[in-house]
Amino acid sequence: MARYTGPVCRLCRREKMKLFLKGPKCDSMKCPIERRPYPPGDHGRDRMRQGSEYLAQLREKQKARRIYGVLEKQFANLYEEANRQQGITGENLLRMLELRLDNLVYRAGWASSRAQARQFVRHGHVNVNGRRVTIPSYRVRKGDTIALRDKARGLIVIRHNIDTLDRQIPPWLETSEEGAAVSVRDVPLREHIDVPVREQLIVELYSK
Ligand code: SF4
Repeated sequence: MARYTGPVCRLCRREKMKLFLKGPKCDSMKCPIERRPYPPGDHGRDRMRQGSEYLAQLREKQKARRIYGVLEKQFANLYEEANRQQGITGENLLRMLELRLDNLVYRAGWASSRAQARQFVRHGHVNVNGRRVTIPSYRVRKGDTIALRDKARGLIVIRHNIDTLDRQIPPWLETSEEGAAVSVRDVPLREHIDVPVREQLIVELYSK
């Protein structure tokens, strides 16, 4: 499957903000955004000027895709689905992104980044309702329980993440088994999704 394999910090610099794609480095002074808060490339500084309405919409879509690590086609399909659902399309879209299994693993504090969370899921470290699921885009539902498998609970990297990340669990999730399992109490509301994305601009982009 096609995926971006280049330097991820470039993606943050392109969006001119921290997207937290790298785990601990993001909170340190090594984060390139701290020193070079302008787009990459020879003409990065020139691109600091205000762009068009279309550019703002495009950037918002790219930002959401990059935060959640979703490919272009997958993202467009999610938008179509969000548009067919009842309610506010932009919120539906963000809700579906939040309910991805890799995002749950990240929110639970087991992984330092969503990329690492995807790896844990692909490597079979996670159960959903007692069954192993290895698809990062798997959408969890209200009432589901996501748990680390026995072997994963002893992995140093996961133990280290649980002990050091100290990530705030969102109110729509509930932890159990000493942090090794989370249950989906409810689907997330917009105010519980703390991503810096203006979803209305994404809707405007796809509505053209
Ligand atoms: Fe983005 Fe993290 Fe790289 Fe900083 S360190 S640019 S926040 S991925």
